[in-house]
Amino acid sequence: MLLLLLACAQPAAPPAGARGSFDAMATRVDVVVREPDSLQMAIALTRAACERVDWVANEWQSGSPLAEVNHAAGSGLPVPIPPDLSALLARSVELSRSTHGAFDPTWAALWGLWNLRANPLKIPDEASVESRRALVGVDGLTLGEGSAQLRDEGMALGLGAIAKGWALDRAADALIAAGIADFSLSAGGQVRVEGQSPAGGPWRVGLRAPRGGPDERFAVVSLGSGSVSTSGDYERFAELGGVRFSHILDPRSGWPAQGVQSATVIARDGTSADALSTAMFVLGPQDGIALAVELGVDAVIVDAAGELHLSPGVVGRLELGDGRE
Ligand code: ADP
Ligand code: MG
Repeated sequence: MLLLLLACAQPAAPPAGARGSFDAMATRVDVVVREPDSLQMAIALTRAACERVDWVANEWQSGSPLAEVNHAAGSGLPVPIPPDLSALLARSVELSRSTHGAFDPTWAALWGLWNLRANPLKIPDEASVESRRALVGVDGLTLGEGSAQLRDEGMALGLGAIAKGWALDRAADALIAAGIADFSLSAGGQVRVEGQSPAGGPWRVGLRAPRGGPDERFAVVSLGSGSVSTSGDYERFAELGGVRFSHILDPRSGWPAQGVQSATVIARDGTSADALSTAMFVLGPQDGIALAVELGVDAVIVDAAGELHLSPGVVGRLELGDGRE
């Protein structure tokens, strides 16, 4: 009764839209729509898109099309793959080239070299780092009409740095085609928004404070249509001698990337934002911001000392602080 009275005494809340969530792609996926009646449809379409990507582009799932390509590496035989995986791989190669290899779908030849769960962390010997590193590079991936082929035994594709962004783009396409105009989809460090937020006006996306708790934000970005993706060193890492080793590897050295706590990219589409945030984590603040300018996207990079580096275009749309009044 008391609770009911208190609830009645609250001032009118701003329109909340409607939200729902489900688990897919080893993370929680959140769906927010401005028009509550569209929620069930939005969830069903988003779930279908995520589950499709989770199957087709999952290197860990034996028998998946991507796992089949990895399995056949070095055999000389092209492996038939479905059209959506062909398109995702073609996009991955493009993004690898435009990031000068900082994002590289063939990074997975390095898989297992660095076991971040080992305590203490074991630094692999130079010869094994070098032999695996030599297997990384999109020149060793041949994409045919509906097929893919990895040149050398030991090569492997891993799409963990792009699959979530791609899945949210495919989901967004499906929602738009179904006539849903105002929505926000998020999965892990990845957000894709379209139209207006439930309160009207642009969506506001919080950026997580890399050394704070899971709900702590250091800035808020406003955008009407597009994607925000963050790659950080706080989800999975090991520490040795005061240095943090994260789950993002630098394909140029074969070592975990260092020098960045978090890299956020704001782009028109989720696929670019996802791959580019990983690339900027690898490249570090100076080269990362230069790449953002070159590619016409916005970036917010927090370096190892906690200093902020911003692309020029982000200044007007970024609000520092946690965004709460
Ligand atoms: P997360 O998915 O953990 O939020 P990212 O989008 O940055 O963050 O992706 C990190 C994942 O990408 C790693 O767990 C690994 O699977 C893969 N990866 C690591 N280094 C690279 C790299 N240089 N290029 C492409 N993928 C990478
Ligand atoms: Mg990424």
